[in-house]
Amino acid sequence: MGSEILQLHIFFFPFMAHGHMIPTVDMAKLFALHGVKTTIVTTPLNAPFFSKTIERSKNSGVDVDIKIIKFPSAQVGLPEGFESLEPSKGMGMDVISKFFLATSLLQEPLEQLLQEFKPDCLVADMFFPWATDAAKKFEIPRLVFHGTSFFSLCVTECLRQYEPHKKVESDDEPFVVPNLPGDIELTRKKLPDFMMQEIETDFTKMLKASRESEMKTNGVVVNSFYELEASYADFYRNFLGRKAWHIGPVSLCNRRIEDKAERGKKASIDEHECLKWLDSKKPNSVVYVCFGSTVNFTSAQLKEIAMGLEDSGQEFIWVVRLDKGNEEEEWLPEGFEERTKGKGLIIRGWAPQVLILEHPAVGGFVTHCGWNSTLEGVSAGVPMVTWPIAAEQFYNEKLVTDVLKIGVSVGVKRWVRVVGDFVNRDAVGKVVKVIMVGEKAEEMRSRAKALGEMAKRAVEKDGSSYSDLNALIQELSQRRGR
Ligand code: UDP
Repeated sequence: MGSEILQLHIFFFPFMAHGHMIPTVDMAKLFALHGVKTTIVTTPLNAPFFSKTIERSKNSGVDVDIKIIKFPSAQVGLPEGFESLEPSKGMGMDVISKFFLATSLLQEPLEQLLQEFKPDCLVADMFFPWATDAAKKFEIPRLVFHGTSFFSLCVTECLRQYEPHKKVESDDEPFVVPNLPGDIELTRKKLPDFMMQEIETDFTKMLKASRESEMKTNGVVVNSFYELEASYADFYRNFLGRKAWHIGPVSLCNRRIEDKAERGKKASIDEHECLKWLDSKKPNSVVYVCFGSTVNFTSAQLKEIAMGLEDSGQEFIWVVRLDKGNEEEEWLPEGFEERTKGKGLIIRGWAPQVLILEHPAVGGFVTHCGWNSTLEGVSAGVPMVTWPIAAEQFYNEKLVTDVLKIGVSVGVKRWVRVVGDFVNRDAVGKVVKVIMVGEKAEEMRSRAKALGEMAKRAVEKDGSSYSDLNALIQELSQRRGR
């Protein structure tokens, strides 16, 4: 009974998109492994994505729970059942605005849960600016989760404060991100489209509200580890003056095969079959190609990727998201699967990504630089081909290629909301070879392996992330004791 009274209880409220829900679930498990009671709040159609993993955690004595609140799709004019934001669903800004409007209506049901369960802290996604007020009503701290690197948080803030992109003459003229360590160069083309808009939209208003509300929170939890980006973690805290705790890589809390195989969704391939295929390959001989949960390439682009992979001569696992328009397999060059039989594996749908990346046969990763994927690649110690599309992916690319020097850019130059800048087969084939074979590949691989080891040490007892997480838990416990 005594320990029950003392147990800290934290609510986690992830944004409804896989790239946000997956690390939040890991985070909740991680806190629970450190003795905290955790509850994830989500909506009916998002809960099944992680109910199994929660059930398994509970069965092994890890205190994670789910609470469900209804998503008001109909109330804002969204189709019934529309509960997650995956831009590839062919949506325009009007749908995105409606979606954010719907999320703002979640304040009331969330407050009812806060009233009922009286947690000690609310960790809510950056996309819920109103969560700060909700936590304030119950006099509990609110922490923010952005789901990206210190590096990208710093770039975003420096661009906002100094606006170097408004001082160049053209979209292609490079500029250096002011004040940021490392002389990081970007161009206007690689920045999100809304940064260039002078007119306020619902989305930019929400981002502004998010920033303002963040200033009133108790800090930020970052899925990263100190050794990976020490200068930027320091810059964020000391120069930008933000309070932050680094607690990652959170994906490393998944130790069992089932947990690795079922992050986010049930994989479209049997995990044992996938492992068997990889077991038959030599170490570092397979390149893993996956563009996260939302990227939606055209058939023409998929065809170039296929031909590029074939040209590279490397063995591969290629994950192709199945969306309307590509079920007919028109995206595959004729005879491709016969020619690459045994050499290549196409996963249509959802891959057990962490399980694949961690396999010794995997020697490289072609990624869109979503932060989760990037950090999973780092943790697995593999060099990467960077192929950013949207969001803050062009910033993560810079971290991988220019700062960490564990990757090569495929050469995309333009931020595009969904579909991506076109890359031809030659570019694909060439960069895949660069990260897989030869001296440069070996250099990058050895740097990547060292970082992978550091990542694992960071989350082990007394590692940097382990200690920062404990410091946060202690701070929250003391606060409650006041
Ligand atoms: N993921 C996966 N299987 C897939 C595609 C994605 O397990 O087939 C996971 C991946 O491991 C990562 C997350 O989905 O944890 C994607 O997040 P990320 O930040 O990389 O990109 P986003 O999907 O948000 O663009």
